[in-house]
Amino acid sequence: MRFVVLALAALLLAAAVAFAQDPPPPVPAPPPAPTETPGPVVDTQPSVPPDFAAIGWHASRALGHPAARGRLVRGVQLPELGEDFFTWDPIHNVIPNREWRRWGTDRLVRTVLQVIHDFRLEHDDAQRVGIMDLSRPRGGRFGKNFGGLGHASHQNGLDADILYPRSDDTEQRPVKPSQVDRELAQELVDRFVAAGAVKVFVGPRLHLKGPRKIVVPLIHHDDHLHVRIR
Ligand SMILES: [Zn+2]
Repeated sequence: MRFVVLALAALLLAAAVAFAQDPPPPVPAPPPAPTETPGPVVDTQPSVPPDFAAIGWHASRALGHPAARGRLVRGVQLPELGEDFFTWDPIHNVIPNREWRRWGTDRLVRTVLQVIHDFRLEHDDAQRVGIMDLSRPRGGRFGKNFGGLGHASHQNGLDADILYPRSDDTEQRPVKPSQVDRELAQELVDRFVAAGAVKVFVGPRLHLKGPRKIVVPLIHHDDHLHVRIR
């Protein structure tokens, strides 16, 4: 009897040792990490125009009105050339425009360059867009004594004249309406309206469209549009 008990105890002990030596239950492997497969590039952020880098940005102030007692405080100068634009002297009809005719508020310069950059992203084969007069370095009157017909407005850094794209793709001022690419011109108008322009003056012979209070046909605008921001 004693032998049986001992044998049983030995058996139990062996079983216990065997149990203790059982390999631990396998730890379930972590699920495989999802592999990074590049999806289609979705452009959720507006892309920053490369031309911004050439500008000495600071906060500007527009005083008075575009066409009366206008002044520009701490204006920002538009460079003479960029990746997306060229400037055009409306008096001498050459690239670039003179440095004292290229000043605006930071918001105007930013808006004009962002609109032109977005437009060119959509049409990467398109010519660069021509920019003519903004305001003088400190604003003020910009009439006939500064050349040509002069401007009634452009006094406080909120106005810019933009050449319509030409249908022959050259970087020049269109001299007659038949040289204007009206489809691209309409797209530029639409983009300035969407960017918050308060006025876009357009050529009466081009039949460009937009909200009636904003897009207004005006004489002497068959070669360029005039955009005004708030
Ligand atoms: Zn103008």
